[in-house]
Amino acid sequence: MKHLIRLALGLFLATSLVGCAVNPVTGKQEIIFDSVAQDIETGKQNYIPSQQSQGGQYVVDPGLTVYVAQVSKKLAAVSDSPNLPYEFVVLNNDVPNAWAMPGGKLAINRGLLIQLEDEAQLAAVMGHEIVHAAARHGASAKSQQMVVGAGALLAGVAVATKKPEYGGLTVGALTVGATAWNSKYSRDHESEADVYGIKYMVKAGYDPQAAVELQELFVRMKDNQAQGWIEGLFASHPASQDRVTANKAEAAKYPKGGARNKEAFQRALSQLRQDKDAYKNYQEAMKSAKAKQYDKALSLVDSSIQQQPRENLFWELKGQLLLQQDKNKEAIAALDKSISSNPNFFRPYIYRGMAYKELGNSNLAERDLVASQRLLPTQEASEELGDIALTKGDRNTAAAYYQHVISGGGEAGERAKAKLQKLQ
Ligand SMILES: [Zn+2]
Repeated sequence: MKHLIRLALGLFLATSLVGCAVNPVTGKQEIIFDSVAQDIETGKQNYIPSQQSQGGQYVVDPGLTVYVAQVSKKLAAVSDSPNLPYEFVVLNNDVPNAWAMPGGKLAINRGLLIQLEDEAQLAAVMGHEIVHAAARHGASAKSQQMVVGAGALLAGVAVATKKPEYGGLTVGALTVGATAWNSKYSRDHESEADVYGIKYMVKAGYDPQAAVELQELFVRMKDNQAQGWIEGLFASHPASQDRVTANKAEAAKYPKGGARNKEAFQRALSQLRQDKDAYKNYQEAMKSAKAKQYDKALSLVDSSIQQQPRENLFWELKGQLLLQQDKNKEAIAALDKSISSNPNFFRPYIYRGMAYKELGNSNLAERDLVASQRLLPTQEASEELGDIALTKGDRNTAAAYYQHVISGGGEAGERAKAKLQKLQ
């Protein structure tokens, strides 16, 4: 009982001393435990793992990222928190999605960019996301969960392992924080982001009508059940006619007109648009692979590679399919291409490591698996590294790797538990 009282008192003190903060956007008092410095640290720590677990950066056309960052920086500069260490990336992901982490770390998927028509619509997406960072919605959501009950952030585990874009890979416990930010915003936070996002758009010179069109686009995508809509933006940003109406009313508060910059947008998107069929074939290839039609998948992904030989995901899938057919040497050749196209993505290192292991080259396998762990720690790589350590007779190292796998839970965790028991 005494402990309980002390705990309650501690919570109360935490709330009254550091818990109250002014929302930089609305100017209202809110319960927020984290400091801005903690926000920035959270963003910094989770930004890379979050990018990795969602496809890594899009590298075929680096100019697109430069363009998205330019547009977004204009909005951040007129926001209510212009001094956050903002960063903007385009993720190599088909799912229509965008997100903001605390501390101003943002991302937009190429799967959402391809749906947009002009720069003003892009500004509507990024303006909305910038509000989430500027108004400290992540820290506020976290604090509210702390008041209601601890442990709510752990819910991120399920999200992280269920994402379809991992293919066969599950991602270990260390990436938990990353996806948790994405889906935790309340309805109030969402409408606040809509309202102030429009304000930032206008301040940066854009036509606020684009924010209405964006919501209309989301409703259309929902009605058509567009590919990936359920796990993308709409998981955290429910599309509805209400939001269209609300944005209409908000946009009407400002003078009509403003920049659309359609040509600049179309120019920036030209490579992505040119490669649209290649990505379509890739998605078909993934479907075929899941249905175990490996030859069909291989021929589809070959046509993707022919259309865009610089896309690391295409080479990776080819490597994965060859690995599946025990064509290890050919798999390695394809994965070499994937890694040289984008050396900063964790997944092909794992597959290449597996191929080297199959060929009995445990040193190269180890090198690749460790390289993947540096980008994103996964249960798969840890398990493989544990197995390799065991074949080398290094039981302590093997045990440490299996412990990491166990901490991630799931099927792999159970498997590692059995391996560890056998070892002891
Ligand atoms: Zn939002």
